[in-house]
Amino acid sequence: MKPRGLSTELIHRGEDAPVRADSVNVPIYETTTFLFENADEVRRYQEGTVDKYLYSRYANPTIVVTEEKIAALDRAEGALAFASGMAAVSTILWTFLSPGDQLLCSSAIYGGTFHLVNDVLRRFQVDVRFATIEELAEPESLFTERTALCWIESPINPTLRCLDVARVARACRAAGVLSVLDNTFASPINQQPLALGVDLAMQSATKYLNGHSDVTGGAVTGPRALLKRVDLMRRYLGGVMDPLAAFALARGLKTLPVRMAQHNRSAEAVARFLDQDRRVTRVYYPGLASHPDHEVARAQMTGFGGMVTFEVPGGLDGASRVFDRLEVVRRATSLGGVDSLVSLPVLTSHYNYSDEELARAGVTAGMLRVSIGLEDEADLIADFDQALG
Ligand SMILES: *Cc1c(COP(=O)(O)O)cnc(C)c1O
Repeated sequence: MKPRGLSTELIHRGEDAPVRADSVNVPIYETTTFLFENADEVRRYQEGTVDKYLYSRYANPTIVVTEEKIAALDRAEGALAFASGMAAVSTILWTFLSPGDQLLCSSAIYGGTFHLVNDVLRRFQVDVRFATIEELAEPESLFTERTALCWIESPINPTLRCLDVARVARACRAAGVLSVLDNTFASPINQQPLALGVDLAMQSATKYLNGHSDVTGGAVTGPRALLKRVDLMRRYLGGVMDPLAAFALARGLKTLPVRMAQHNRSAEAVARFLDQDRRVTRVYYPGLASHPDHEVARAQMTGFGGMVTFEVPGGLDGASRVFDRLEVVRRATSLGGVDSLVSLPVLTSHYNYSDEELARAGVTAGMLRVSIGLEDEADLIADFDQALG
């Protein structure tokens, strides 16, 4: 039947006969659903005997292409893309934990993960045991009969403390505990979690993976058997990435290796400049021999990353003066983009922490945390020099 009315024309014209355009990049399949020829094709889809898409919350061609690239980065069997890093975190936790289980969780973790675990997961009768980096050096002593999952992060914000990932992963495997590492700060270019032995790697794609401060997303990589379960939970919880975001992320991913190489170089140069400057009381960078976890970082990372934290005298007032004077480095939270960004941990990631909690996290009022971007190294160093006054 030939369509007649204008609305019918506008809705159907051109849509059902896609042109093979041979575009260099995968198109943005901004569609929620996919066409079927007939009932038999639907049946074959359900039986898994035809390779097709059904609904974008389940799978979408643009998202799948992005996931392939993320899997390649982590040398993983597969990857899943999420609407945010926190969607990835929550989907993993809800996939592998049940009431009565215990979650062994590093106390040095991203604030969003901490609150999800501490304020929400506990309501579902999951027991949470927080462990310090020191305690996690002997992971065997922390497991109980009920320990089902171990969640770690390295390096962590803002002190860039690192823990021995392979050591924790080995102990988990021996005890039958699933291990997950949040690799956001390192990125797969600087640290390969799966090669270090963890079962699943998670990252916020909002940061280095995309790298341009214009996409919110998350990623999980690992073996196919585990991802299958996470994929099912992603369908239920619904935190899948949008095709438009997946397209932008795929573009960002193409330059990740060159971006990380420059982030590593510039951050190290800035860290060394600050380290020799007498107006700075302390610099936290895993690439400096003075960092408490320098040896661990050297053993498990191939680059020390683009994050630098430093401390100035005078507490929050002293740090605020430097913060306010920076001109090349821009005042905003988050990290991993082409723009250098500075934040004050006590006013952002660690806002409302008690003095005791701050001490436990190693955070002081005089700290500035910097995500070193891709501006010229000399301009960045000159900016810190003038801002230190
Ligand atoms: C930002 C971040 C997250 C959360 O990611 P979103 O994309 O903001 O949801 C998780 N872990 C770490 C280490 C992060 O820096």
